[in-house]
Amino acid sequence: MKMIEYENLAKLNAPFFDDFQNEFKNVMESGWYILGNKVKEFENDFAEYNNSKYSIGVANGLDALILAIKSLDIEPGSEILVPSNTYIATILSIIHNNCKPVLVEPDIATYNIDPSKIEEKITDKTRVILVVHLYGKICAMDEIIEIARKHNLYVVEDCAQSHGAMLKNRKGGTFGDINAFSFYPTKNLGSLGDAGAIVTDSEKLAEKVTVLRNYGSSKKYYNQVVGFNSRLDELQAAFLLVKLKHLDQINQHKRNLASLYFKYLKEDFVKPVMHPDYYDVYHIFNIRHPQRDKLKQYLLKHEIKTEIHYPVPPVKQKAMEGIFENAIVTPVADEIHDTTLSLPISYFHKEDEILRVIEILNQY
Ligand SMILES: *Cc1c(COP(=O)(O)O)cnc(C)c1O
Repeated sequence: MKMIEYENLAKLNAPFFDDFQNEFKNVMESGWYILGNKVKEFENDFAEYNNSKYSIGVANGLDALILAIKSLDIEPGSEILVPSNTYIATILSIIHNNCKPVLVEPDIATYNIDPSKIEEKITDKTRVILVVHLYGKICAMDEIIEIARKHNLYVVEDCAQSHGAMLKNRKGGTFGDINAFSFYPTKNLGSLGDAGAIVTDSEKLAEKVTVLRNYGSSKKYYNQVVGFNSRLDELQAAFLLVKLKHLDQINQHKRNLASLYFKYLKEDFVKPVMHPDYYDVYHIFNIRHPQRDKLKQYLLKHEIKTEIHYPVPPVKQKAMEGIFENAIVTPVADEIHDTTLSLPISYFHKEDEILRVIEILNQY
């Protein structure tokens, strides 16, 4: 039998190859390669897709987060609340702003930041709640926004895994003050290289990040602030325009595959939760099992590849030495990192492949 891959970017993108080639030719012949009309067009379309006023293309998702936080002009040493089980990039964006990441445990059912554990972490230095819509599910934004209003905090959304995901028909990226997307090739909206975007309804913040991404300059050779080089390429923008038109279809395909897991996978495996208010886009479909590592080996023996998102929680990474208090414990994040397993759910996977994964899993 043929190996079922976890991901294959060439197969994922194969349906778009002809359009990509046309766009490559257009951009090549235009002679304009960075921050041009394609970037503007993508920014307009992406803002419209998210029902938000402004979208600003940047070089990658980490930069989108760094510049989003930077635009808030908070004092160095400020505390930013962040979920303890996120991907390291979210935490790095806080550190690169000379702020202090303060970990909040996730809800074990949703894997997203637990709103009931936020207020106990707020101090007079707290300025931002940085939420992450992990695996493609929007966080409990009603509760989070209410807490932020009460304590006068900014909200920033990390939407790197949640393109098109919704809560009560409202897209992720429209709840916070300023919000970040990644278009890393594996994401639901993925480019053919690095790319990212910031989304906001605030004209003031949009202008700030537009200046910050391009050497702190809004007029060529005149620099108002200490900026960055985090510009988006025309080629990546052109490829993203092609894929944005198919994003809903990509998400729907992943949701169909997820529905097979929900319907047929036996209850020995802890599946994600579903709720009618939430439109989840399954960047990752994870299950949890106490013998996760054995289960992964078993699947591999049966020609099925899986991944672990993520094997080591941020607090236990070597790079984080000295960042957090030694006494910090994150039992919920640890439990997730020890037991989670991500199953195949890419745009190129066929239903019969997912049914085979289910059949093999149910025999475990
Ligand atoms: C991928 C990802 C990022 C970073 O995006 P890059 O484009 O790789 O810089 C940030 N946060 C989360 C949750 C991610 O999954």
